[in-house]
Amino acid sequence: MLNIVLFGPPGAGKGTQSHHLIQKYNLVHLSTGDILRGEISNGTPLGLEAKKLMDQGLLVPDEVVIGMISNKLDQNAAAKGFIFDGFPRTVAQAEALDQLLTSKNDGISGMIALEVDEEELQKRLLIRGKDSGRPDDQNPEIIKKRVAEYTSKTAQVANYYQSQHKFYAVKGVGSIDEIFGNIVKVIEELTK
Ligand code: ADP
Repeated sequence: MLNIVLFGPPGAGKGTQSHHLIQKYNLVHLSTGDILRGEISNGTPLGLEAKKLMDQGLLVPDEVVIGMISNKLDQNAAAKGFIFDGFPRTVAQAEALDQLLTSKNDGISGMIALEVDEEELQKRLLIRGKDSGRPDDQNPEIIKKRVAEYTSKTAQVANYYQSQHKFYAVKGVGSIDEIFGNIVKVIEELTK
């Protein structure tokens, strides 16, 4: 199976690139942010709890997102592989994901990290806030908080995959096609 962790700070383009990747490689897209927003729009108890944290730019608890991913893996047992987008966001999540996949005799093929400078990220998120209607994209203070969460809790996840020799950086600035082409090159290396 081809299991890719697509990594990068908020606004790096993970969602956009995921959509291209699932088409090319026939993978299942698992975005914890999308799943959480689905729970919110369905008004579930989980969604109501998660919303309080998401609206402040804070991460939701590890157990919650790990449970969601575990369910999705079970529901998609016949998948050719997965793109993990916005997950794992902590080292504990990365360890749990390895355990879940190992129990299915599977594993992560590689992490692809989209690298974008801070100024460009701020710009993209404010533009996205106008179009997407996502409340957490519309307020510069909340964006700052999300970047702070990324720096303090998520950035280390890259080291986790680096120590497993599964880390690949791709420049996340340029045209969508150009960035996609560079991601595809990495995947071709991985699947050789
Ligand atoms: P972005 O990458 O732009 O921050 P996401 O849609 O991935 O957007 O996430 C939106 C919010 O959902 C996060 O700020 C966080 O509150 C919550 N969230 C998503 N994925 C996770 C995760 N793996 N662990 C904890 N919280 C998460």
